[in-house]
Formats: sequence, structure tokens, C-alpha cells
Amino acid sequence: MILCMKFDVVIIGGGLVGASLAAALQHSGLSLALVESQSSLMRNNAPAMNVPNNVEEWDSRIYAISPGSRSFLEESGAWPLLDASRIAPVEAMRVFGDTGAELEFSAYQMGVAELACILEGRALQHALWQVLQQQENLTLFHPAQCAALKFADEAATLTLEDGRTLNANLIVGADGRDSWVRKQAGISEEPVDYQQHGVVANFSTDKPHRGIAYQWFQPDGILALLPLPGDRVSMVWSVHPEKSAELLALTREALCIKVATAAQHMLGKMQVITPPAAFPLRMLVLPQISAPRVALIGDAAHNMHPLAGQGVNTGFRDARQLAQIMAGRGAQNDCGDARLLRRYERKRKEDIYTMQATTYGLKHLFNNDVPLLRSVRNLGLNATNHIIPLKKMLMQHALN
Ligand SMILES: Cc1cc2nc3c(=O)[nH]c(=O)nc-3n(C[C@H](O)[C@H](O)[C@H](O)COP(=O)(O)OP(=O)(O)OC[C@H]3O[C@@H](n4cnc5c(N)ncnc54)[C@H](O)[C@@H]3O)c2cc1C
Repeated sequence: MILCMKFDVVIIGGGLVGASLAAALQHSGLSLALVESQSSLMRNNAPAMNVPNNVEEWDSRIYAISPGSRSFLEESGAWPLLDASRIAPVEAMRVFGDTGAELEFSAYQMGVAELACILEGRALQHALWQVLQQQENLTLFHPAQCAALKFADEAATLTLEDGRTLNANLIVGADGRDSWVRKQAGISEEPVDYQQHGVVANFSTDKPHRGIAYQWFQPDGILALLPLPGDRVSMVWSVHPEKSAELLALTREALCIKVATAAQHMLGKMQVITPPAAFPLRMLVLPQISAPRVALIGDAAHNMHPLAGQGVNTGFRDARQLAQIMAGRGAQNDCGDARLLRRYERKRKEDIYTMQATTYGLKHLFNNDVPLLRSVRNLGLNATNHIIPLKKMLMQHALN
């Protein structure tokens, strides 16, 4: 006989955002399940031990974590489990237009300790999963494949491929950009293809970065170099798919020269320490991020250009908001109640649209050869640089 297990919340997807929600709900009194399909992500109830033991091995997936996300991760106990020697604070940002115009932000100007922290994706994943393993109100299903999801007025029922069934008041779709949960809930929209790939790689540099994150907006792409501990940087170069293929085909030496030249030799000679990889970029704006008995979080709920380093941060804000709504539900026992889901939808709308519109607008403003636009965008950068309150306003959102 196959038992049907009952939970308050079933989270589908144990990536950074899904895992962060489970961790944030550890003292909520709710019974939780988390279903993750990838066996390589975790083994034997523990995350795959791919945290590097060699200091020269750096993950190519690097994240700029905002101060707001950091405090969310601190509250859940994941942040203190990270190796501080592998985290680099961003103390300033220098953004260059395509005619030399410049915009500078500093943590000092903003009155904060750092603008962001740069760290490795797998280290954060590992820290979050260490928290989940200790969590008494959580049952982990992994690797486990979802087979069917059925919705009724009172609850939703998830059937796994091995026949086990999970009954929940709320299903949370944290299953990434091609979300299966989203499809089952009937929420759909065509993504906008940015016609760009994000090419990532890590480098050691001749000159110190001094905690500065650099970004160059060029007509053929956007190059970002983020500080890593020591004289190392992490690159995200958003370029047309053809240029991405060219970059990936270059020899190590040729790639280093290409990147150092595009970076105007500001960091001197560069040596690649993590081979390049490319990720297709797209924008996904959904008409809604909830449906009866379903809430979407993270990339399942929105995709955006990585130029502002806000994808996972926006996902953490979804998770934080949903956890707060669950915690503040008062006498409402049904955590999948439509009123709670409407509140989640309302609270998240503005932030998600602001981030998507900003990244979309900036990408198109600079990926454009119209001469007038060219002058306006560069004048705009220079002018903004001199208006401190405007700079602060621009930066404030990214610090959340
Ligand atoms: C080049 C590049 C650079 C970026 N840099 C930054 C940055 O600096 N800062 C930032 O904030 N963001 C950045 N982003 C965005 C960031 O990578 C994503 O927003 C983030 O990884 C989304 O996390 P997630 O947990 O929502 O989804 P995912 O990381 O995709 O996790 C989804 C999880 O769900 C699991 N899953 C999928 N389907 C199922 C299923 N049916 N059943 C069970 N489990 C399932 C998957 O195995 C996976 O573990 C960048 C993106 C790109 C492409």
C-alpha cells in the first residue's frame, strides 16, 4: 500500500532559492517537504561534496550577494557556515560607457559596509543544505522526479515517479527557469530571448582589484569583472551567441588577451583560472506568480539579464517575503489560502518589475548603435555620477 504523506508546504526545487525558503521556514511550525530532482546536487542526504579543497579551484558560478540577501542568509544560519576566506566584499563599483563616460558608486558614499559580497554558488548551496539536514520540520526527497500534480480546493497532491504521493496546502515552485510546477499551474508566457549568452570564467590578475567591481557597457556586449579573494576576478561577459562561441573556442592565452583588452588593461595581464562556460540569457515576465495552491519563487517566477547581478537576489527576496507571510499568517492554518497568496503576489510585483525593466532598459540602451542614443547614454552616465542623491537612489534598490 502506498501512503500519502501530508505536509503544510511542499517546495519543488532545492537550488539556492528553494533551499533558502526551506531554511527560512525552520522555526515556522509548518511541516515541510523539499523535492529535488538532481542527484548530483546532493547525495546520501547530504549535498554533493563539490566544495573545493584546493584553493586554486574556483567555481565558475559566482554570485554578487546583496546586503539584504546576506542578512536573510544570516538569519537562516547558512551564512556563518561559509568559508569567509573565499568571500570578497565589493567596496566600490566603476561602470563605463562606450565613449569613456563613467559612473562610480562606493560603499562609503552609500553608508554601508559593502555594496555586495562575491561568493561561489556551490559553497552557498552547500551551506544551505547543511542547514536543511539539521531541520526537524523538513523531509527531503532526492533525487526524486515529479510525475503529476493535481489541485483540489482543499489541497494539492504531488505524485512522484516512484509512486509516492505528497499532499500539501501549498506547493512552491522553486524549480528554475523551465519550471515544471509553473506549467502544471497553467501559468505561461513566452520568454524574450536576449540574443545574448553570459560567458563566465575566473582569472588571476597582475594588478589588485582593490574590492572594485568593474562593468563596461559596449555596443557588442556588457563585460563585468567582479572581485574574488586575492588578485582574482570573476567575469560575466554578456555577448551575442556568435561572439560567445568565438570566446569559448579561443586558446587560454587568446582569451586572456581579449578580456584584458576589453577591460582596458585596468587590471593588467590576466590568466584564466577557471575555463569559460556560457549561459543563454532571456527575460521572462509572468502575468502572475501564484495560482490556487501554488506560489512561484526564484527563476521559476522571473528571469532577468545578469547585468545588475540581481537574479538570485530577487529570488531570495521572494523567499523572504513568502516566509514572512507564512510566519505572520496568525490564526490562518491553511498556508495555501488564496488571501495569503494574493498578499505574496502584491508584495512582490513592484520589486520584480523594477528589476526586470531596469535590466531590460539598460541592456537595450547600450546594445544600440543610434548615434543620438550613444551620446545620451554616455552623457547620462557622467551626469548621474555627479548627482549624489540620484546615485544613492539608483543603488538603494540593489542593496535590498
Ligand atoms: C551568467 C549568469 C550570471 C549570473 N550572475 C548572477 C549574480 O551575480 N547575482 C545574482 O543574483 N544572480 C545571478 N544570476 C542569476 C542566477 O543564476 C539565478 O537567478 C539563480 O540561480 C536562480 O536560482 P533558483 O534556485 O531559482 O533556480 P535554479 O538554480 O535553476 O534551481 C532550480 C532547482 O530546481 C531543481 N529542479 C528543476 N526541475 C525540477 C523538478 N521538476 N523537480 C524537482 N526539482 C527540480 C533543479 O535541479 C535545481 O536544483 C546569473 C545568471 C547567469 C546566467
